[in-house]
Amino acid sequence: MATIETKCVQGGYTPGNGEPRQVPIIQSTTFKYTSSADMGKLFDLEASGYFYSRLQNPTCDTVAAKICELEGGTAAMLTSSGQAASFFSIFNIAQAGDHVVCSSCIYGGTFNLFNVTMRKMGLDFTFVAPDCTDEELEAAFKPNTKAVFGETVANPALVVLDIERFANAAHAHGVPLIIDNTFATPVNCRPFEWGADIVIHSTTKYMDGHGSAVGGCIVDSGKFDWTKYPEKFPGLCTPDDSYHGITYTERFGIEGAYITKATAQLMRDLGTTQSPQSAYLLNLGLESLHLRMKQHCKNAQAVAEFLSAHDKIAWVKYCGLPTDKDYALAQKYLPNGSCGVVSFGVQGGRAAAEAFMGHLKIAAIETHVADARSCCLHPASATHRQLTDEELVAAGVTPDLVRFSCGIEGTEDLIADIAQALDKI
Ligand SMILES: *Cc1c(COP(=O)(O)O)cnc(C)c1O
Repeated sequence: MATIETKCVQGGYTPGNGEPRQVPIIQSTTFKYTSSADMGKLFDLEASGYFYSRLQNPTCDTVAAKICELEGGTAAMLTSSGQAASFFSIFNIAQAGDHVVCSSCIYGGTFNLFNVTMRKMGLDFTFVAPDCTDEELEAAFKPNTKAVFGETVANPALVVLDIERFANAAHAHGVPLIIDNTFATPVNCRPFEWGADIVIHSTTKYMDGHGSAVGGCIVDSGKFDWTKYPEKFPGLCTPDDSYHGITYTERFGIEGAYITKATAQLMRDLGTTQSPQSAYLLNLGLESLHLRMKQHCKNAQAVAEFLSAHDKIAWVKYCGLPTDKDYALAQKYLPNGSCGVVSFGVQGGRAAAEAFMGHLKIAAIETHVADARSCCLHPASATHRQLTDEELVAAGVTPDLVRFSCGIEGTEDLIADIAQALDKI
Protein backbone atom coordinates (compact mmCIF):
# COMPACT_ATOMS: atom_id res chain seq x y z
CA MET A 1 0.00 0.00 0.00
CA ALA A 2 1.55 3.21 -1.15
CA THR A 3 0.08 6.21 0.60
CA ILE A 4 -0.17 7.10 4.28
CA GLU A 5 -3.92 7.70 3.79
CA THR A 6 -4.54 4.15 2.63
CA LYS A 7 -2.38 2.77 5.43
CA CYS A 8 -4.44 4.72 7.99
CA VAL A 9 -7.64 3.19 6.66
CA GLN A 10 -6.62 -0.33 5.69
CA GLY A 11 -3.16 -1.05 7.15
CA GLY A 12 -2.55 -4.05 9.39
CA TYR A 13 -5.69 -6.00 8.51
CA THR A 14 -6.67 -7.77 5.32
CA PRO A 15 -9.69 -10.01 5.96
CA GLY A 16 -10.03 -13.22 3.99
CA ASN A 17 -13.12 -14.41 2.18
CA GLY A 18 -16.18 -14.13 4.44
CA GLU A 19 -14.22 -12.71 7.37
CA PRO A 20 -15.26 -9.61 9.36
CA ARG A 21 -14.65 -6.33 7.50
CA GLN A 22 -13.87 -4.54 10.78
CA VAL A 23 -11.01 -5.69 13.04
CA PRO A 24 -12.52 -8.29 15.39
CA ILE A 25 -12.21 -7.76 19.14
CA ILE A 26 -10.73 -11.00 20.44
CA GLN A 27 -11.87 -10.60 24.03
CA SER A 28 -10.16 -13.72 25.35
CA THR A 29 -7.40 -14.02 27.92
CA THR A 30 -6.42 -17.46 26.70
CA PHE A 31 -6.25 -19.70 23.64
CA LYS A 32 -6.98 -23.41 23.28
CA TYR A 33 -4.54 -26.10 22.09
CA THR A 34 -4.99 -29.81 21.46
CA SER A 35 -1.63 -30.91 22.86
CA SER A 36 0.87 -29.73 25.45
CA ALA A 37 3.59 -30.18 22.86
CA ASP A 38 1.92 -27.57 20.62
CA MET A 39 1.77 -25.13 23.49
CA GLY A 40 5.35 -25.89 24.51
CA LYS A 41 6.57 -24.73 21.11
CA LEU A 42 4.89 -21.36 21.69
CA PHE A 43 6.53 -20.99 25.10
CA ASP A 44 9.93 -21.71 23.54
CA LEU A 45 9.18 -19.18 20.76
CA GLU A 46 9.67 -22.03 18.26
CA ALA A 47 6.25 -21.47 16.76
CA SER A 48 4.26 -18.23 16.63
CA GLY A 49 0.77 -18.13 18.05
CA TYR A 50 -1.27 -16.95 20.98
CA PHE A 51 -1.49 -18.45 24.43
CA TYR A 52 -2.13 -15.66 26.93
CA SER A 53 -3.21 -12.07 26.27
CA ARG A 54 -0.72 -10.59 28.75
CA LEU A 55 1.93 -11.33 26.12
CA GLN A 56 0.06 -11.06 22.84
CA ASN A 57 -3.50 -10.71 21.60
CA PRO A 58 -4.65 -10.85 17.95
CA THR A 59 -6.60 -7.56 18.09
CA CYS A 60 -3.68 -5.70 19.65
CA ASP A 61 -1.25 -7.24 17.15
CA THR A 62 -3.43 -6.20 14.20
CA VAL A 63 -3.52 -2.59 15.36
CA ALA A 64 0.22 -2.63 16.15
CA ALA A 65 0.79 -3.88 12.59
CA LYS A 66 -1.09 -0.84 11.23
CA ILE A 67 1.06 1.59 13.24
CA CYS A 68 4.13 -0.36 12.12
CA GLU A 69 3.13 0.21 8.47
CA LEU A 70 2.43 3.89 9.12
CA GLU A 71 5.89 4.42 10.59
CA GLY A 72 7.60 2.17 8.03
CA GLY A 73 8.95 -0.25 10.64
CA THR A 74 9.53 -4.00 10.77
CA ALA A 75 7.87 -4.89 14.10
CA ALA A 76 5.62 -3.19 16.67
CA MET A 77 3.75 -3.78 19.90
CA LEU A 78 1.00 -2.00 21.80
CA THR A 79 1.38 -1.06 25.46
CA SER A 80 -1.11 0.04 28.12
CA SER A 81 0.00 3.69 27.94
CA GLY A 82 2.54 6.03 26.44
CA GLN A 83 4.42 5.90 29.74
CA ALA A 84 4.75 2.12 29.44
CA ALA A 85 6.05 2.52 25.87
CA SER A 86 8.70 5.07 26.97
CA PHE A 87 9.79 2.83 29.84
CA PHE A 88 10.01 -0.34 27.71
CA SER A 89 11.81 1.45 24.89
CA ILE A 90 14.75 2.17 27.19
CA PHE A 91 14.56 -0.73 29.64
CA ASN A 92 14.61 -3.25 26.77
CA ILE A 93 18.23 -2.29 26.03
CA ALA A 94 19.50 -0.66 29.24
CA GLN A 95 19.63 -1.68 32.88
CA ALA A 96 21.11 -0.58 36.23
CA GLY A 97 24.53 0.90 35.58
CA ASP A 98 23.66 2.08 32.07
CA HIS A 99 23.24 5.63 30.79
CA VAL A 100 20.97 7.42 28.31
CA VAL A 101 21.37 10.78 26.55
CA CYS A 102 18.03 12.59 26.42
CA SER A 103 16.69 15.84 25.02
CA SER A 104 15.67 18.21 27.83
CA CYS A 105 12.55 19.18 25.87
CA ILE A 106 10.32 16.19 26.55
CA TYR A 107 6.92 15.47 28.07
CA GLY A 108 6.88 16.10 31.83
CA GLY A 109 5.72 12.55 32.56
CA THR A 110 8.65 11.12 30.60
CA PHE A 111 11.04 13.44 32.45
CA ASN A 112 9.76 12.18 35.82
CA LEU A 113 9.93 8.57 34.65
CA PHE A 114 13.56 8.96 33.58
CA ASN A 115 14.87 11.44 36.11
CA VAL A 116 13.18 10.05 39.24
CA THR A 117 11.81 6.54 38.83
CA MET A 118 14.38 5.05 36.47
CA ARG A 119 17.20 6.68 38.43
CA LYS A 120 15.90 4.74 41.44
CA MET A 121 16.32 1.63 39.29
CA GLY A 122 19.98 2.51 38.77
CA LEU A 123 19.87 4.06 35.30
CA ASP A 124 21.57 7.37 34.62
CA PHE A 125 20.42 10.16 32.26
CA THR A 126 22.12 13.23 30.83
CA PHE A 127 19.70 15.86 29.51
CA VAL A 128 20.83 18.11 26.67
CA ALA A 129 19.05 21.07 25.12
CA PRO A 130 17.78 20.15 21.62
CA ASP A 131 19.63 23.21 20.27
CA CYS A 132 22.90 22.38 22.06
CA THR A 133 26.16 22.62 20.11
CA ASP A 134 27.71 19.52 18.53
CA GLU A 135 30.41 19.67 21.22
CA GLU A 136 27.83 19.71 24.02
CA LEU A 137 26.00 16.77 22.45
CA GLU A 138 29.25 14.85 22.05
CA ALA A 139 30.21 15.54 25.69
CA ALA A 140 26.94 14.01 26.93
CA PHE A 141 27.95 10.49 25.85
CA LYS A 142 29.60 8.06 28.28
CA PRO A 143 31.13 4.61 27.73
CA ASN A 144 27.95 3.09 29.27
CA THR A 145 25.51 5.09 27.09
CA LYS A 146 22.92 2.74 25.55
CA ALA A 147 20.49 5.06 23.75
CA VAL A 148 19.55 8.62 22.80
CA PHE A 149 15.95 9.80 23.36
CA GLY A 150 13.97 12.81 22.13
CA GLU A 151 10.56 14.04 20.88
CA THR A 152 9.82 15.09 17.28
CA VAL A 153 7.69 18.01 18.53
CA ALA A 154 8.03 18.34 22.29
CA ASN A 155 4.99 18.47 24.59
CA PRO A 156 4.44 21.21 25.82
CA ALA A 157 7.54 23.20 24.76
CA LEU A 158 6.68 22.62 21.04
CA VAL A 159 10.38 22.57 20.19
CA VAL A 160 11.29 20.60 17.04
CA LEU A 161 14.14 18.08 17.32
CA ASP A 162 16.86 17.94 14.65
CA ILE A 163 16.34 14.20 14.26
CA GLU A 164 19.12 13.69 11.69
CA ARG A 165 21.71 15.40 13.90
CA PHE A 166 20.73 13.36 16.97
CA ALA A 167 20.65 10.14 14.91
CA ASN A 168 24.16 10.78 13.57
CA ALA A 169 25.47 11.44 17.09
CA ALA A 170 23.81 8.27 18.43
CA HIS A 171 25.15 6.12 15.59
CA ALA A 172 28.67 7.53 15.97
CA HIS A 173 28.53 6.09 19.51
CA GLY A 174 27.01 2.76 18.44
CA VAL A 175 23.61 3.32 20.06
CA PRO A 176 20.07 3.77 18.69
CA LEU A 177 17.98 6.95 18.57
CA ILE A 178 14.54 6.53 20.15
CA ILE A 179 11.93 9.11 19.14
CA ASP A 180 8.62 9.89 20.81
CA ASN A 181 6.54 10.80 17.73
CA THR A 182 3.27 11.40 19.60
CA PHE A 183 2.63 15.02 18.60
CA ALA A 184 3.66 14.82 14.94
CA THR A 185 2.17 11.35 14.25
CA PRO A 186 3.45 9.35 11.24
CA VAL A 187 1.10 11.41 9.06
CA ASN A 188 3.31 14.48 9.52
CA CYS A 189 6.73 12.94 10.23
CA ARG A 190 8.24 9.48 9.97
CA PRO A 191 11.40 9.61 12.08
CA PHE A 192 12.81 6.39 10.52
CA GLU A 193 13.22 8.32 7.26
CA TRP A 194 15.61 10.65 9.14
CA GLY A 195 17.71 7.96 10.81
CA ALA A 196 15.78 7.21 14.03
CA ASP A 197 15.85 3.54 15.03
CA ILE A 198 12.91 3.12 17.44
CA VAL A 199 9.68 5.16 17.56
CA ILE A 200 7.26 5.28 20.46
CA HIS A 201 3.80 6.81 20.81
CA SER A 202 1.27 7.78 23.38
CA THR A 203 -1.64 6.52 21.27
CA THR A 204 -3.87 8.30 23.83
CA LYS A 205 -3.34 11.51 21.85
CA TYR A 206 -3.94 12.06 18.11
CA MET A 207 -3.94 8.36 17.17
CA ASP A 208 -6.95 7.62 19.35
CA GLY A 209 -7.99 11.24 18.87
CA HIS A 210 -11.35 11.01 20.63
CA GLY A 211 -10.31 10.88 24.26
CA SER A 212 -11.54 7.31 24.57
CA ALA A 213 -8.62 5.03 25.51
CA VAL A 214 -5.19 5.40 27.11
CA GLY A 215 -2.54 3.47 25.19
CA GLY A 216 0.97 3.32 23.79
CA CYS A 217 2.97 1.75 20.98
CA ILE A 218 6.61 0.89 20.21
CA VAL A 219 7.84 0.44 16.62
CA ASP A 220 11.25 -0.88 15.52
CA SER A 221 12.76 0.30 12.23
CA GLY A 222 14.68 -2.98 12.05
CA LYS A 223 17.73 -1.03 10.90
CA PHE A 224 19.87 -0.84 14.02
CA ASP A 225 22.40 -3.68 13.92
CA TRP A 226 22.67 -4.77 17.56
CA THR A 227 25.07 -7.56 16.56
CA LYS A 228 27.76 -4.98 15.75
CA TYR A 229 27.84 -4.08 19.47
CA PRO A 230 27.19 -7.37 21.34
CA GLU A 231 29.02 -6.11 24.45
CA LYS A 232 26.67 -3.10 24.62
CA PHE A 233 23.46 -5.06 24.07
CA PRO A 234 23.92 -8.47 25.73
CA GLY A 235 20.16 -8.81 26.27
CA LEU A 236 19.65 -9.00 22.51
CA CYS A 237 22.90 -10.66 21.44
CA THR A 238 23.50 -13.36 24.09
CA PRO A 239 21.25 -16.27 25.21
CA ASP A 240 18.19 -15.44 27.36
CA ASP A 241 18.07 -18.06 30.13
CA SER A 242 14.41 -17.25 30.79
CA TYR A 243 13.63 -18.44 27.26
CA HIS A 244 15.68 -21.64 27.06
CA GLY A 245 18.78 -19.90 25.88
CA ILE A 246 17.29 -18.12 22.86
CA THR A 247 19.49 -15.38 21.40
CA TYR A 248 16.97 -12.85 20.05
CA THR A 249 19.15 -11.46 17.26
CA GLU A 250 19.99 -14.99 16.02
CA ARG A 251 16.42 -16.29 16.08
CA PHE A 252 14.53 -13.16 14.95
CA GLY A 253 17.16 -11.14 13.06
CA ILE A 254 17.80 -7.45 13.56
CA GLU A 255 14.29 -6.79 12.18
CA GLY A 256 12.50 -8.69 14.95
CA ALA A 257 14.85 -9.05 17.93
CA TYR A 258 13.98 -5.85 19.78
CA ILE A 259 10.18 -6.19 19.77
CA THR A 260 10.28 -9.95 20.39
CA LYS A 261 12.44 -9.40 23.48
CA ALA A 262 10.21 -6.57 24.71
CA THR A 263 7.16 -8.84 24.33
CA ALA A 264 8.63 -12.12 25.57
CA GLN A 265 10.52 -10.64 28.51
CA LEU A 266 9.23 -7.21 29.55
CA MET A 267 5.55 -7.73 28.78
CA ARG A 268 5.66 -11.21 30.32
CA ASP A 269 7.20 -9.83 33.52
CA LEU A 270 5.65 -6.38 33.81
CA GLY A 271 2.26 -6.94 32.16
CA THR A 272 1.47 -3.44 30.88
CA THR A 273 -0.74 -4.73 28.06
CA GLN A 274 -3.35 -2.83 26.10
CA SER A 275 -6.84 -4.32 26.21
CA PRO A 276 -8.37 -5.59 22.93
CA GLN A 277 -11.28 -3.16 23.46
CA SER A 278 -8.87 -0.22 23.68
CA ALA A 279 -6.97 -1.45 20.62
CA TYR A 280 -10.26 -1.58 18.69
CA LEU A 281 -11.05 2.03 19.66
CA LEU A 282 -7.50 3.04 18.73
CA ASN A 283 -7.97 1.51 15.31
CA LEU A 284 -11.17 3.49 14.75
CA GLY A 285 -9.14 6.62 15.51
CA LEU A 286 -6.33 5.60 13.17
CA GLU A 287 -8.79 5.20 10.29
CA SER A 288 -9.29 8.99 10.20
CA LEU A 289 -5.89 10.14 11.53
CA HIS A 290 -4.79 11.55 8.15
CA LEU A 291 -7.99 13.62 7.81
CA ARG A 292 -7.97 14.87 11.39
CA MET A 293 -4.29 15.89 11.38
CA LYS A 294 -4.95 18.19 8.41
CA GLN A 295 -7.71 20.02 10.29
CA HIS A 296 -5.77 20.12 13.60
CA CYS A 297 -2.84 21.75 11.77
CA LYS A 298 -5.04 24.13 9.76
CA ASN A 299 -6.74 25.30 12.95
CA ALA A 300 -3.47 25.64 14.88
CA GLN A 301 -1.84 27.65 12.08
CA ALA A 302 -4.82 30.03 11.93
CA VAL A 303 -5.01 30.35 15.72
CA ALA A 304 -1.23 30.98 15.97
CA GLU A 305 -1.45 33.68 13.28
CA PHE A 306 -4.49 35.31 14.92
CA LEU A 307 -2.83 35.34 18.35
CA SER A 308 0.46 36.73 16.97
CA ALA A 309 -1.39 39.80 15.72
CA HIS A 310 -3.42 40.34 18.92
CA ASP A 311 -2.32 43.07 21.32
CA LYS A 312 -3.42 41.15 24.43
CA ILE A 313 -1.02 38.30 23.58
CA ALA A 314 2.59 38.58 24.81
CA TRP A 315 4.13 35.76 22.75
CA VAL A 316 3.19 32.70 20.65
CA LYS A 317 5.09 29.42 20.19
CA TYR A 318 4.15 27.47 17.06
CA CYS A 319 6.70 26.14 14.59
CA GLY A 320 4.45 26.91 11.63
CA LEU A 321 5.01 30.66 12.14
CA PRO A 322 7.82 31.98 9.89
CA THR A 323 9.09 34.03 12.86
CA ASP A 324 9.37 30.92 15.08
CA LYS A 325 12.83 29.77 16.21
CA ASP A 326 12.03 26.24 14.93
CA TYR A 327 10.50 27.27 11.60
CA ALA A 328 13.46 26.04 9.52
CA LEU A 329 13.54 22.66 11.30
CA ALA A 330 9.77 22.38 10.89
CA GLN A 331 10.07 23.07 7.14
CA LYS A 332 12.54 20.19 6.89
CA TYR A 333 10.90 17.58 9.14
CA LEU A 334 7.24 18.68 9.11
CA PRO A 335 6.55 20.23 5.69
CA ASN A 336 2.84 19.34 5.85
CA GLY A 337 2.26 20.67 9.37
CA SER A 338 3.35 19.80 12.90
CA CYS A 339 0.43 19.38 15.31
CA GLY A 340 -2.61 21.17 16.68
CA VAL A 341 -1.08 22.49 19.88
CA VAL A 342 -0.16 26.17 20.25
CA SER A 343 1.41 27.69 23.36
CA PHE A 344 1.12 31.41 24.13
CA GLY A 345 1.35 34.01 26.86
CA VAL A 346 -1.51 36.33 27.79
CA GLN A 347 -0.61 39.96 28.63
CA GLY A 348 -1.20 40.42 32.35
CA GLY A 349 0.30 37.10 33.42
CA ARG A 350 -1.27 34.39 35.54
CA ALA A 351 -4.53 36.18 36.43
CA ALA A 352 -5.18 37.21 32.82
CA ALA A 353 -4.44 33.71 31.51
CA GLU A 354 -6.87 32.14 33.99
CA ALA A 355 -9.54 34.76 33.24
CA PHE A 356 -9.14 34.25 29.48
CA MET A 357 -9.61 30.49 29.80
CA GLY A 358 -12.68 30.95 31.97
CA HIS A 359 -14.38 32.87 29.15
CA LEU A 360 -13.79 30.22 26.44
CA LYS A 361 -16.92 28.42 25.28
CA ILE A 362 -15.68 25.89 22.68
CA ALA A 363 -12.33 24.96 24.21
CA ALA A 364 -12.70 23.13 27.52
CA ILE A 365 -10.22 23.22 30.39
CA GLU A 366 -8.58 19.77 30.51
CA THR A 367 -5.21 18.17 31.19
CA HIS A 368 -5.65 16.28 27.90
CA VAL A 369 -4.22 17.36 24.53
CA ALA A 370 -4.49 16.24 20.93
CA ASP A 371 -8.22 15.52 21.04
CA ALA A 372 -10.85 16.10 18.35
CA ARG A 373 -12.43 18.63 20.75
CA SER A 374 -10.42 21.76 21.49
CA CYS A 375 -9.06 21.96 25.00
CA CYS A 376 -6.66 24.12 26.94
CA LEU A 377 -4.61 24.10 30.09
CA HIS A 378 -2.99 26.72 32.29
CA PRO A 379 -0.03 24.70 33.59
CA ALA A 380 0.82 27.28 36.29
CA SER A 381 -2.52 26.67 38.01
CA ALA A 382 -2.89 22.96 37.11
CA THR A 383 -0.05 20.54 36.34
CA HIS A 384 2.63 22.87 37.76
CA ARG A 385 0.62 24.60 40.51
CA GLN A 386 2.96 23.56 43.32
CA LEU A 387 5.77 25.68 41.80
CA THR A 388 6.50 29.30 42.68
CA ASP A 389 6.65 31.85 39.85
CA GLU A 390 10.48 31.65 39.87
CA GLU A 391 10.41 27.85 39.72
CA LEU A 392 7.90 28.01 36.86
CA VAL A 393 10.24 30.16 34.79
CA ALA A 394 13.12 27.75 35.49
CA ALA A 395 10.93 24.86 34.29
CA GLY A 396 10.19 26.74 31.06
CA VAL A 397 6.53 27.19 32.07
CA THR A 398 5.95 30.90 32.48
CA PRO A 399 2.99 31.96 34.69
CA ASP A 400 1.22 33.44 31.65
CA LEU A 401 1.54 30.27 29.49
CA VAL A 402 -1.62 28.77 28.01
CA ARG A 403 -1.34 25.43 26.17
CA PHE A 404 -4.11 25.43 23.59
CA SER A 405 -4.88 22.18 21.79
CA CYS A 406 -6.84 22.98 18.63
CA GLY A 407 -9.43 20.34 17.86
CA ILE A 408 -11.06 19.69 14.50
CA GLU A 409 -13.95 22.13 14.87
CA GLY A 410 -14.47 24.92 12.32
CA THR A 411 -11.54 27.34 12.13
CA GLU A 412 -13.75 30.48 12.26
CA ASP A 413 -15.54 29.19 15.38
CA LEU A 414 -12.28 28.60 17.23
CA ILE A 415 -10.94 32.02 16.38
CA ALA A 416 -14.23 33.70 17.28
CA ASP A 417 -14.22 31.89 20.63
CA ILE A 418 -10.67 33.00 21.40
CA ALA A 419 -11.44 36.56 20.24
CA GLN A 420 -14.51 36.92 22.49
CA ALA A 421 -12.61 35.50 25.48
CA LEU A 422 -9.75 37.96 24.92
CA ASP A 423 -12.23 40.84 24.57
CA LYS A 424 -13.57 40.07 28.06
CA ILE A 425 -10.24 40.42 29.86
C1 LIG B 1 0.87 12.02 26.90
C2 LIG B 1 2.24 11.78 26.44
C3 LIG B 1 3.01 10.70 26.91
C4 LIG B 1 2.48 9.74 27.95
O1 LIG B 1 1.45 8.99 27.42
P1 LIG B 1 0.25 8.36 28.28
O2 LIG B 1 -0.54 7.64 27.25
O3 LIG B 1 -0.48 9.48 28.94
O4 LIG B 1 0.89 7.43 29.27
C5 LIG B 1 4.27 10.52 26.38
N1 LIG B 1 4.78 11.37 25.48
C6 LIG B 1 4.08 12.42 25.01
C7 LIG B 1 4.70 13.31 24.00
C8 LIG B 1 2.80 12.68 25.48
O5 LIG B 1 2.12 13.73 25.01
